[in-house]
Amino acid sequence: MNHPSLYRGQQVVVLGLAKSGVSAAKVFHALGAKVVVNDKKTREQCPEAGELEAAGIAVICGSHPDDLITEATALVVKNPGIPYQAPPVQQALNLGIEVVTEVEVAYALSPAPMIGITGSNGKTTTTTWIGELLQAAGLSPIVAGNIGTPLCEAATRAEASQWIVAELSSFQLKGTGSFRPKVAVLLNLAETHLDYHGSMEDYVASKAKLFSNMTPEDTAVLNWDDPICRELAAGVKAKLLPFSLTQRLEQGGAYIEPPYPADAGEAGDAERKVVYRDSEGVVHELVPVSELGIPGRHNAANALAAVAASLAAGASVEKLSRPLREFRSVEHRLELVCTKNGITFYNDSKATNPTATTMSVGSLQGGIILIAGGLDRGSDYMELLPLFQKRVKGLVVLGQTREKLARVAELAGLASVIIVEPEEVADDTLRAAVSRAAAIAEPGDTVLLSPACASWDMFASYEQRGRIFKDSAHTL
Ligand code: ADP
Repeated sequence: MNHPSLYRGQQVVVLGLAKSGVSAAKVFHALGAKVVVNDKKTREQCPEAGELEAAGIAVICGSHPDDLITEATALVVKNPGIPYQAPPVQQALNLGIEVVTEVEVAYALSPAPMIGITGSNGKTTTTTWIGELLQAAGLSPIVAGNIGTPLCEAATRAEASQWIVAELSSFQLKGTGSFRPKVAVLLNLAETHLDYHGSMEDYVASKAKLFSNMTPEDTAVLNWDDPICRELAAGVKAKLLPFSLTQRLEQGGAYIEPPYPADAGEAGDAERKVVYRDSEGVVHELVPVSELGIPGRHNAANALAAVAASLAAGASVEKLSRPLREFRSVEHRLELVCTKNGITFYNDSKATNPTATTMSVGSLQGGIILIAGGLDRGSDYMELLPLFQKRVKGLVVLGQTREKLARVAELAGLASVIIVEPEEVADDTLRAAVSRAAAIAEPGDTVLLSPACASWDMFASYEQRGRIFKDSAHTL
């Protein structure tokens, strides 16, 4: 798309009244475009409408009117969650009107360079960590995107000397065209969000859009342990800066020394170190893995990606050890809640797919009573079988996927499985799950909420699910 100022006097339709839509609408309005914001939610469900109308922006709630998109529309800015099959999006595409997400607008607007972070798992953790590493290095980051502050808001207040550190989902990336981050991070690719993308190919292609406009002046940070990431690397024009848990990267990059074996667990973390080999072949030791602020092999991978991205942005290597040690987990991500009667409770509500749950379970020691289950997206959850065979001591399942998960546990030969049937109020179902998990836990065990599923069958969000879990644990 063009610079937002070039839409002056033209009609820009913003679809979806979430934070990012409000932010994009304000940008175009301030620059003189005729902005129409539309959401099919009712007016009562759109509390942001009043603020926009007061500013003189037209807002239509309750439906997508047939005549919303016409030949007079110059641009459509779509909320990432709205599917491409939605009628107004289809109308725009049929008329040859460009449809973008807010990332594209923010990119066109921002005087500051961007670091774009994507992947199936670990985005928020790594984005937050990069923000802290850059802050410690004196590079004045603005952390934005999926993580909270809308990108357009960040782009509006950014100065050229700063960095916008942007967490990006595949939904956001699918709606980009000229977006070109200065540093791009692809953490990993697991099978997820297939209901939206329709196929793994579309999902991978959306993630790969992160790199499509990059040149050799830019840097692509890629997971060298992930076969799909490595395959994508062949088509990337940016300088490659790989990271790996399992390989000593002789050509440069961030890795663990000595490397982890490809398939095993956490043993020997005390001897392992996070290191960086620069382009001259000099190896810089940062911190022992055991001293990283958050546990688990997956978080060591997130640390490596964060180190690589920060160095690519110009941070000096000596500044990185302290924020690597001092980082604490983000809420709902393997968050320590409390210890009661010798039983420790962890809230990992953000683990909304089996890969995330596998990673979290693998990071904890001792007996684990796992609370899992939620929205059914069609997966068979067989990926969890080894976990149920080897690492989980007891399983408490709830939500739409409860029977499926119980079946996998049965195949795994797990004896201790409790199916929690839905109560009238979803909160009570989760509260019942927590007390039943606590009842089968012994001192020294951990009760872990790591659902492997999204929350929307029972809750408004994973945050709500996590908060109820924490409250239940505290009030047991
Ligand atoms: P995202 O923003 O991509 O959803 P988060 O940083 O919020 O990722 O982490 C969500 C969950 O995903 C964590 O609680 C953990 O279980 C898992 N996870 C985090 N990092 C990784 C990783 N690098 N690989 C696999 N799983 C991960």
